Amino acid sequence: MTRKSSLIRSALIALPLGLLSVGVGYYAFHFFNRDDIPSTGKPAQTESQALNQKSWPEVQRLISSGIEPLSEADLEACRSSLGLVEEQQAPAHSDNFGDRDAKDLLGREIPHQPALIVLHETVISAPATINFFQTPHPNDNDQASYHMLVSQNGDLIRFVPDENRAYGAGYSRFGDFTVHSKSPNNFSVNNVALHISLETPPDGRGDVASHSGYTRDQYNTLAKQVLLWQAKYGIPMFRVTTHASVDRSHSRYDPRTFRWDSFDVYHRKHAATCGLVNLTLT
Ligand SMILES: [Zn+2]
Repeated sequence: MTRKSSLIRSALIALPLGLLSVGVGYYAFHFFNRDDIPSTGKPAQTESQALNQKSWPEVQRLISSGIEPLSEADLEACRSSLGLVEEQQAPAHSDNFGDRDAKDLLGREIPHQPALIVLHETVISAPATINFFQTPHPNDNDQASYHMLVSQNGDLIRFVPDENRAYGAGYSRFGDFTVHSKSPNNFSVNNVALHISLETPPDGRGDVASHSGYTRDQYNTLAKQVLLWQAKYGIPMFRVTTHASVDRSHSRYDPRTFRWDSFDVYHRKHAATCGLVNLTLT
């Protein structure tokens, strides 16, 4: 990970040409989703400063969920019963995602297995989102991605493999919990998150407080994918959250107009189909 001077960074913030080309809404929702760059505009740390042990917080861990991951065979049986649409592959450019770090810069082991599911919305259209994630973004501030996207017609698009870290929520905490991997000053849940986004309807393609909401097909596909992720990694419902809930930059508030009760109708039905009602408990 490169570290640039604050001057260069300010220039990048002032004139991100790639973002200007796709509009204000995108700018508002997708800036600073990498988690290992300074947020304050202060000069980047030198490596020796970053390695100063005293400045690093203690490693935080989530308590065990108590949920055993499903076997591969049971997972496939569940997927088949649910009739989940096949993933469309649209790999993000390698600039736009990274590795889940097993250790921080001090060499301490840190949480890096998927343990949280974070819901988003795109603000822009699905095709524009695909185009943005597949475009090389050498500037740190422009880099962003989700693992998956659910289009308005319920299609499922894959950008980043589960085992990699998508840049979905820079400056984020789940309650008190967060991960510092490359700097004591920056933190994020990205190292343990699975990020999935809903395509925003046309009347929400901007910085508006709310919009007409998501389609039944979207809630249905989202509920299936969330359930399968929960089953695969042993993630309880209380660790399925939203970008708005985990954001600590006070600049993210998606997915707007999301209805948990609409999601739950499908999620409960699919959980019953697979005998996974324990994954519906809030
Ligand atoms: Zn988001």
